[in-house]
Amino acid sequence: MTDLNTLTIAEARDGLRARRFSAVELTEACLAAIDRADALNAVTTKTHDRARAMAAAADARLAAGDAPDLCGVPIGVKDLFCTEGVRSQAASDILRDFLPPYESTVTAKLWAEGAVMAAKLNMDEFAMGSSNETSCYGPVASPWRRPGDNRPLTPGGSSGGSAAAVAADLCLGAVGTDTGGSIRQPAAFTGIVGIKPTYGRCSRWGIVAFASSLDQAGPMTKTVRDAAIMLKAMSGEDPKDSTSAPLEVPDFEAALTGDVRGRRIGVPKEYRLDGMPPEIEALWEKGRAMLADAGAEIVEISLPHTKYALPAYYIIAPAEASSNLARYDGVRYGLRADLKGSEGVTDLYERTRAEGFGAEVRRRVMIGAYVLSAGYYDAYYLRAQKVRTLIKRDFEQAFEAGVDAILTPATPSAAFALGEIGGDDPVKMYLNDVFTVTVNLAGLPAISVPAGLSAEGLPLGLQLIGKPWGEAALLNDATAIERAAAFVARPDRWW
Ligand code: GLN
Repeated sequence: MTDLNTLTIAEARDGLRARRFSAVELTEACLAAIDRADALNAVTTKTHDRARAMAAAADARLAAGDAPDLCGVPIGVKDLFCTEGVRSQAASDILRDFLPPYESTVTAKLWAEGAVMAAKLNMDEFAMGSSNETSCYGPVASPWRRPGDNRPLTPGGSSGGSAAAVAADLCLGAVGTDTGGSIRQPAAFTGIVGIKPTYGRCSRWGIVAFASSLDQAGPMTKTVRDAAIMLKAMSGEDPKDSTSAPLEVPDFEAALTGDVRGRRIGVPKEYRLDGMPPEIEALWEKGRAMLADAGAEIVEISLPHTKYALPAYYIIAPAEASSNLARYDGVRYGLRADLKGSEGVTDLYERTRAEGFGAEVRRRVMIGAYVLSAGYYDAYYLRAQKVRTLIKRDFEQAFEAGVDAILTPATPSAAFALGEIGGDDPVKMYLNDVFTVTVNLAGLPAISVPAGLSAEGLPLGLQLIGKPWGEAALLNDATAIERAAAFVARPDRWW
């Protein structure tokens, strides 16, 4: 039998239901893969005992003929999700050894379907980053390498552990979160599928907050079909999150015909950036051709405010972060600075936050406090909110003019080496998010699908952006790309 951990979710579901193997066997294959993969640093907390108990319970359900899609399927969980009694630190020292007394809604829904918790997964601290290098656990190494070059590459961020774990077959799928690209960019860098749903599709309850008006959970999987299966299980209204939408959850998988005849796909000219590598332009062109060959109509469109999206995002996201992160004061959760010699409660707060937050998080908190401060609020925060409205309107106008979905590259380059970008200039790292943040500002769904390899042999992704609540059609468009691209490249195992 093939190594069970290399199966897709759909294959595992069918195999489990046909009793070709058990959930315990499938889970053991993943746990063994996890134990062999310490060099990737994708896992923050191993949850083997819990996984084994969940797998045994799933086998009992399967034996009783009660087998939801994810019953017995091992799923990895980004460390940003609170999991009851299991260390959940958002990859931050300030939440050191935090054991949540409750379970996030999204993970609770997965477990209710019988999914098995494979492990907690590494990420950028508080999901702030694009390379997984801001984690208190250290960076994740991508399973991919440039041929003939042993330097470790980034799996992307902030859901870098989730991406690496799926790409390296440590679990069959993983949950990530996406505030400005953190599902789509790592998916693109590691050759997997990642979808950020419409804002409000999934409950944010129990997910450590970064920027609440932008944060959204989503699946990271080996195939589009698997993303459809997982998204259905994760979605739905939740009384504990008033921004979750009171909408029926469609059967996303049932929508996957791959038939895109007559669909109008917009190609926004503003996404053609100066200095964009020719291979990204070529990939985009290939995506247009693949959809056109499948019968879609490609139309040039304009999203005129695109160039303001990145600066607006890097005002709004830090502003919300500075407010959300005010709760980490050393009193309620996690780390508390040594009280010896403390000069009162303000001193305690200051020392705890200085010790507990990493450099990038401190930078965001300071930027956020600055743009929200009385003297600068109008010039920065208020103006960024206005820009956000204009960006949203750009998309609305494109959809009103008859466009069904929008095709762009997912990232401006393939994965870079750890330590290669950022350094003393954080803006270089922020530029990675240029194609992804617009979607979060507008609240729209978007998916990254692996579509080709760079000249260096690294995965590249195409992004499709959909209408609000249009995930079913979006996943179907992505199926057309997935079929045409027939991306089968896998990383050589070096770990
Ligand atoms: N890279 C972006 C940031 O650093 C997006 C992160 C995310 O989507 N969580 O803010």
